[in-house]
Amino acid sequence: MIPYGRQTIEDDDVAAVLEALRSDFLTQGPRVAAFEAQLAELAGTPYAVAFSSGTAALHAACFAAGAGPGDEVVTSALTFAASANCAAYVGATPVFADIDPATWNVSAETVAAVVSERTRAVIPVSFTGLPAPIAEIRAAVGPDVVVIEDAAHAIGGRRAGRPVGADADMTVFSFHPVKTVTTGEGGAITLSDPKLYQRLLDFRSHGMTKDPARLERPDEGGWYMEQHLLGFNYRITDLQCALGSSQLAKTERFVAARNAIAARYREELAGVVALPPEVPADSLHAYHLFVISVAERRRVYDALRERGVLAQIHYLPVYLHPYYRDTYGYAPGLCPEAETYYEGCLSLPCFPGLTEDEQTTVITAVRDIVGA
Ligand SMILES: *Cc1c(COP(=O)(O)O)cnc(C)c1O
Repeated sequence: MIPYGRQTIEDDDVAAVLEALRSDFLTQGPRVAAFEAQLAELAGTPYAVAFSSGTAALHAACFAAGAGPGDEVVTSALTFAASANCAAYVGATPVFADIDPATWNVSAETVAAVVSERTRAVIPVSFTGLPAPIAEIRAAVGPDVVVIEDAAHAIGGRRAGRPVGADADMTVFSFHPVKTVTTGEGGAITLSDPKLYQRLLDFRSHGMTKDPARLERPDEGGWYMEQHLLGFNYRITDLQCALGSSQLAKTERFVAARNAIAARYREELAGVVALPPEVPADSLHAYHLFVISVAERRRVYDALRERGVLAQIHYLPVYLHPYYRDTYGYAPGLCPEAETYYEGCLSLPCFPGLTEDEQTTVITAVRDIVGA
């Protein structure tokens, strides 16, 4: 079976993990800070904080934004549930903005349509790796709303010439194996604000501090720590960051490989199926996903599977999950564009290790099945 996504692990990635395994620190050692510094440089921000998963990072971002009971957090209807669950974790209400069918991302208009006085944060998703319009959304929501970009799909992408990671108040990445850069499980946030940075660090590690300048009882002794807020253990390990640093150095190559596959699909499937949105000239698509749109999607999906091509569907609009319908009373019809998109969407295999022969298999299968 050809999967829709797969990690690329090379000999130097393996060597980096083995070296970490033989070092003094398996966790809370120097490789975490090194990985964070490398990510901050890639994103062009002063700070990066790594977490045990992208989901943990989203939770931390909602906490740092100050979202809580009575607040609303707006995200895209078209995303993985974690982009909305993070609002629920802190007791806020997840609210959904529809997509712009021209980009499959939320726009300033679709966000503005659902923003209210209670909106504390907005989480635009750079869906499939096409950077969402962060500056326009920021302008539409005003300075009091925290903008958190979910860039789980978009590492290595560029927006208006700038790296993804530099534009929102906080940008969240995921390093799950299906994503472009992997640490096994892992996530991170890039950001510029020192206060948010401190809150993220505290939240990641039980809300505990040893910093003498912050202790209520600084003279207690060398062992002494204080818990100042309710945090979690959302730390990433040095083993994972060893892999992460090795992988992160390959981001450009991985993104270029994904773009090459996307270019071939665009060329050879033009006129056969509906292709993904065009990429603005000043942006770089990260192509975590290559999504086509077809009629009779169920038949196409099943027929591809029979031919060894394991396509995937990204995503059911989040509010249609039973949990969201039962808990918040959401119902079909809320975000019509996202629902229309869902009817036809199909993610084709797209990852650096996909061989030319496998690409041909995918293209031939799609052409045969769709009848072109
Ligand atoms: C993968 C993903 C996440 C969650 O990341 P994990 O590292 O798996 O917890 C969040 N949002 C989007 C859009 C994702 O694709």
